[in-house]
Amino acid sequence: MNVLFPATADAVLEALRAHPDARLMAGGTDLLVRRRAGAVAPGVLVCLERVADLNGVEVLGDAIRIGAATTLTAILENGAIRERLPLLRDAAGAFASPPVRNMATLGGNLCTASPAADTLPPLCVLGAEAEILSSSGTRRMPVADFVTGPGRTALEPGELLGSVTVPVPGGGTIQHFEKVGRRKAMAIAVVSLAALLRVEGGVIAEARLAWGSVGPTVVRCPEAEALLAGRAPTLETFRAAGESVRRAVRPIDDVRASAGYRRRVAANLLLRLAEKAGPAALG
Ligand SMILES: Cc1cc2nc3c(=O)[nH]c(=O)nc-3n(C[C@H](O)[C@H](O)[C@H](O)COP(=O)(O)OP(=O)(O)OC[C@H]3O[C@@H](n4cnc5c(N)ncnc54)[C@H](O)[C@@H]3O)c2cc1C
Repeated sequence: MNVLFPATADAVLEALRAHPDARLMAGGTDLLVRRRAGAVAPGVLVCLERVADLNGVEVLGDAIRIGAATTLTAILENGAIRERLPLLRDAAGAFASPPVRNMATLGGNLCTASPAADTLPPLCVLGAEAEILSSSGTRRMPVADFVTGPGRTALEPGELLGSVTVPVPGGGTIQHFEKVGRRKAMAIAVVSLAALLRVEGGVIAEARLAWGSVGPTVVRCPEAEALLAGRAPTLETFRAAGESVRRAVRPIDDVRASAGYRRRVAANLLLRLAEKAGPAALG
């Protein structure tokens, strides 16, 4: 196998042009597992670990840009993300274990497009935008549209995910992430919830909710969001929203949990959000 280590994004695109069947590798925590299992057998591997322009976190006024090859550890330890995007920070903290976080990247997590990918629900509720690079230019799209199904993305041959830009929510916003797995570390989500609530004058002005692992990709529930908007963040309000969530999610039975269990947990995670939102709304 031919392994290439380009140093710039342009050189990565050049390598993809020269070797149309090449596979990109970032941290390798997904790709190398699949290679060992015989699911993929790339003749040429283009590694992203030395590409400086795909790596790092940059504050751009009211947004934060995260290079696709930035590791989960770098996200977890970044001060701006900790302060302004605690939702993403908590998702990074719940991800696998320190050794895996040291290798795994944000771009790799999005490009594997797993229904259980921990960073996807947070990026969807935050309204993050994906930057896609190719030799013919750059295009952008919401991260919510970037993942098109289990294991599928909007990337065309010869394209590369360059970065993700996340708008920083304004003041008065409650950010919440919770992941339920079969154990506390090294566990793929059985269900996860990312939530963004804007609270004004003790009332929920806007709710954005996204669940992981309960559908082919991230599941939003506009009915629950509408039920929460305009109401005080009480337990009763969240319980009513939970009923619509039970109906909206489309989980499957698998080795980790039954569909019925996932449905119940998806609704119950809203009650935990209520525990956080109620006191926060009272100031
Ligand atoms: C033990 C273990 C525990 C895990 N735990 C979790 C967990 O808790 N939560 C979770 O969400 N995932 C988990 N995973 C899955 C995996 O680690 C993540 O999806 C990880 O983020 C993948 O990132 P990577 O950089 O290692 O990707 P890689 O393995 O390098 O690449 C994955 C895929 O993305 C493509 N790719 C990578 N970067 C780009 C790019 N910039 N542009 C275009 N394509 C690209 C590659 O070609 C490949 O197809 C776990 C995996 C293992 C082995």
